[in-house]
Amino acid sequence: MGQFIESALDPKTALYDLTLPAGEPWSRVLTKGQIFRIVDLEGCQAVDTLFYNAADAADRYSAPDTIRAQGNIFLTTETKLVSSDGNVLATIVADTCGRHDTSGGACSSESNTCRFGHDKKYMHNCRDSFLLALAELGRGMGKRDLASNINFFMNVPVTPDGGLSFADGVSAPGRYVEMRAEADVLVLISNCPQLNNPCNAYNPTPVRLLVWDPVG
Ligand SMILES: [Zn+2]
Repeated sequence: MGQFIESALDPKTALYDLTLPAGEPWSRVLTKGQIFRIVDLEGCQAVDTLFYNAADAADRYSAPDTIRAQGNIFLTTETKLVSSDGNVLATIVADTCGRHDTSGGACSSESNTCRFGHDKKYMHNCRDSFLLALAELGRGMGKRDLASNINFFMNVPVTPDGGLSFADGVSAPGRYVEMRAEADVLVLISNCPQLNNPCNAYNPTPVRLLVWDPVG
């Protein structure tokens, strides 16, 4: 694990290229074979991401199934993103960060309250961003569709006694992760708006999203 693999793809040839501002939600359906890259433009941003089988949204990314399939809690090159029905939704094909979290979950008004104080309850959070993006999709998806997520570029090691520690980031400006869709996949991102967690230096930043059609 922790394989630093660079991509051969040139951003100039991408069919889609967007800079997503800090704190914003985003969604798109990737068709099978398309390549999707997320670039951590300024470093140590957390990109909370959900994946669904576009043909059946009840079949969605599963952190426990993904961890069990690869025998490792961190995601990097060669990780297969496994769904709740045991399908592979996407494969990570390049990674210049080396480690991504899928244990820490997404921030919410509840976690803001528990971790940072009751006065933080109404601050922007990923769970609300996901719900907003789902509502805008008009597919009838809502709270019940919020399953386990990936925190791209986030570093959440497990302590010797089994706890999760939200450690300082291991990413840096310009690092990226790239994946190939293995089915038609709905991707939902909350570019984390969190202002209370030192893991992003209390400073949410933009990310760049690129899509290429299948190569060759
Ligand atoms: Zn968040």
